[in-house]
Amino acid sequence: MGDKRIDYLRTRIRDVPDFPKEGVLFKDITPLLADVEAFRTSIQLIVERLDEAPVDVVIGIEARGFMFGAALADKLGVGFVPVRKPGKLPAATYRAEYELEYGTDALEIHQDALNPGQRVLIVDDLIATGGTAKATADLVEQCGAEVAALVFLVNLRFLQGEQKLDGYRVISLLDY
Ligand code: AMP
Repeated sequence: MGDKRIDYLRTRIRDVPDFPKEGVLFKDITPLLADVEAFRTSIQLIVERLDEAPVDVVIGIEARGFMFGAALADKLGVGFVPVRKPGKLPAATYRAEYELEYGTDALEIHQDALNPGQRVLIVDDLIATGGTAKATADLVEQCGAEVAALVFLVNLRFLQGEQKLDGYRVISLLDY
């Protein structure tokens, strides 16, 4: 496809070996956030890829999904809803658990954050095994809302996270 904008974004993702533990190649998006041209371009490209699909609300997944999600919500002219790690949201929540390499983790959403039938765009910086994204889709459905699409800056395609999101529309800008 040769989109020069994608090539540019790729230069703004820093590989950090062995973080947060040995054997993990961490994709650090902070250089992209610090570069206004790259940050704006990433939001613009996601909007283009959405191709005017109707979205009523954007969900950002803690923590790096907050930055992209909030910017995207502003650009789309819709509200923003956070999905957070357990114990962070103050009012009544729904919870979804997901498997980690060792044990389980969970995510939460405010029970009144979404209205039934709302079309929700889920945003995170990166999809690896897909567990985080799938748990978030489950939360959307617990609220009676609908997943319009899931968007990621980076897709670690070799981990096949998309397989957990079968049936959902998945958009990613940079595949590895
Ligand atoms: P997963 O549930 O396995 O798809 O993991 C996705 C979540 O973990 C996202 O919120 C990412 O920010 C984070 N994550 C997982 N692997 C990496 C990685 N190699 N580099 C940066 N972030 C990662």
